[in-house]
Amino acid sequence: VEKYLQTIQTKAHLNAFVEVYRDYALARAEEIDQKISIGKAGKLAGMVIGIKDVLCFDGHEVNASSKILSGFKSQFTSTAIQRLIDQDAIIIGRLNCDEFGMGSSNENTVHGRVLNAADESRVPGGSSGGSAVAVQANMVTAALGTDTGGSVRQPAAFTGVVGMKPTYSRVSRWGLIAYASSFDTIGVFSNTVKDNALIMEVMAGYDEQDSTSSRKPVPAFSELLHFSKNTRIAYLKETLESEALSPEIKSNTQSVLDKLKDEGHTVEEVEFPLLKYVLPTYYILTTAEASANLSRFDGVKYGYRTPNAVNLESMYKLTRSEGFGAEVKRRIMLGTFVLSASYHDAYFTKAQKVRRMIKEQTERLLSEYDYFIMPTTPTSAFKFGEHSGDPVAMYLEDLYTVQASVSGVPAISIPNGADKNGMPIGLQVISNSFKEAELYAFSDYLT
Ligand code: GLN
Repeated sequence: VEKYLQTIQTKAHLNAFVEVYRDYALARAEEIDQKISIGKAGKLAGMVIGIKDVLCFDGHEVNASSKILSGFKSQFTSTAIQRLIDQDAIIIGRLNCDEFGMGSSNENTVHGRVLNAADESRVPGGSSGGSAVAVQANMVTAALGTDTGGSVRQPAAFTGVVGMKPTYSRVSRWGLIAYASSFDTIGVFSNTVKDNALIMEVMAGYDEQDSTSSRKPVPAFSELLHFSKNTRIAYLKETLESEALSPEIKSNTQSVLDKLKDEGHTVEEVEFPLLKYVLPTYYILTTAEASANLSRFDGVKYGYRTPNAVNLESMYKLTRSEGFGAEVKRRIMLGTFVLSASYHDAYFTKAQKVRRMIKEQTERLLSEYDYFIMPTTPTSAFKFGEHSGDPVAMYLEDLYTVQASVSGVPAISIPNGADKNGMPIGLQVISNSFKEAELYAFSDYLT
């Protein structure tokens, strides 16, 4: 803990941490040292973990990087964090992110932007940018993030670390501040596949506080990393043909596919013509869910309340106008629009039907093949400000991550070399639902 506290201090300018639980972490370390000396320590003893600023931790402030939650303290601990603590992980602090998880660059935050440690003029990715940089710069052993449409995998790719999004429902969402409830997952950033697998096996599993959490048994992922069988791998034609894909990332992905073929695995091209509908479907459904989820922030119950109100209605309006950032407001308006009486069928209902088609085709292909391989992102980490005036260009960054989110299947980003500027490149591997053990084993083999 002392070593990590030291690194957090020397790398403070990266702005990954919003708050460091110094005294708490040191006291926990003492306690766990005691347990180790009597041979009673939990599975995660020795692991020092940072948490994204959207996860509730009893008695600690949580802001979702938004002014509207300034001063708000959690009154209970999220299940995911509690399970880590129960196995003697040490929670060392709270990590910066895009406001309510909305963004791909960690520029939408009331705490100020996070810098990529590989090149400080570039973004770390988002929305879990602080979590990614904390792992990248060795400020923690691992970090929790959340992935609604790529917010663990994309920043993992931009910073050269391992980032896993589990199957939807694998990890309880109790105590997670919601962005889009039917997409939100809690994921893990780490330097190695093994650490990632260990944390995930502790965190996953049924929780009676979250009625959507799965009752499926959770295998010991970290003990199942032996990968020996010949696998069937598919790559989706449309992903590699996309105009948005940088040529360097394309050839980087291609060489992994070639190598796997040389090693005797089956590697085949398949068509996935629905790829072009994945982003629009994602942005219609997530903004709709966000507009409903964020209606609770009205100045009455949580955090910020405007000092300028003259009556109840102006209190609601001014609190929300002053408390939410520009991107969050854009999404609330878009979501309210697609849910409105006159446009509901044209957008929301249609997007739900398209979601089902995407999910069914994805699951069907993943029953014929063990894994999909594709780039995590179309480009490597871009410069600050490059997309901030153009929301649609920013949304395009999520081109390859949203398919797994729309379908609910697990997906991981692992480091796969660097581009000519030395910026990390990520490789994404996707499997069918609840096949995290296989996904980890294959990722371990690839790294
Ligand atoms: N960049 C995507 C978005 O802004 C993904 C966010 C996420 O996964 N939380 O919606």
